[in-house]
Amino acid sequence: MDEKLIIDVSRLKSEGETVSGEVDAVDLDEEFVKSFGGIRYRLDVRLYGRELLVRGSAEQDFDLVCSRCGKDFDDTVKVADYVSSHEIADNTVEVDLTESLRESIILALPTYPVCDEACPGIEQTEEMPGDDRWGALDQLKVQGEQENGKS
Ligand SMILES: [Zn+2]
Repeated sequence: MDEKLIIDVSRLKSEGETVSGEVDAVDLDEEFVKSFGGIRYRLDVRLYGRELLVRGSAEQDFDLVCSRCGKDFDDTVKVADYVSSHEIADNTVEVDLTESLRESIILALPTYPVCDEACPGIEQTEEMPGDDRWGALDQLKVQGEQENGKS
């Protein structure tokens, strides 16, 4: 695995190139999001005048916690349409894509990860008084509305 993803602009073929491999990722070690392995990428890199245009895909494996049932599960976070452009100055020799790629993966992380679309959530047990409490709240609301109506 490479530490950084660096494009050598001075050696880049005029018709562009496809680069692929794996690069070190940010070591996320949050309570609910753990990353493992690097970022796998496949990118088309091409110079257009003074601009380096990069398009492709990237993915990384994560250990996430389901926002519904609270269980751990493994998931691959994918960025299917990675695009970035970098201005090339006269003295630019190489462009470091590492940070940009890492950022795209972080942005693609689900806000509310679910282990399965069909995940039923935390199993409800008979003893849970949840429904009664909501019922009491509804009663209060109805009373409140009636009082407002009178005044
Ligand atoms: Zn779940």
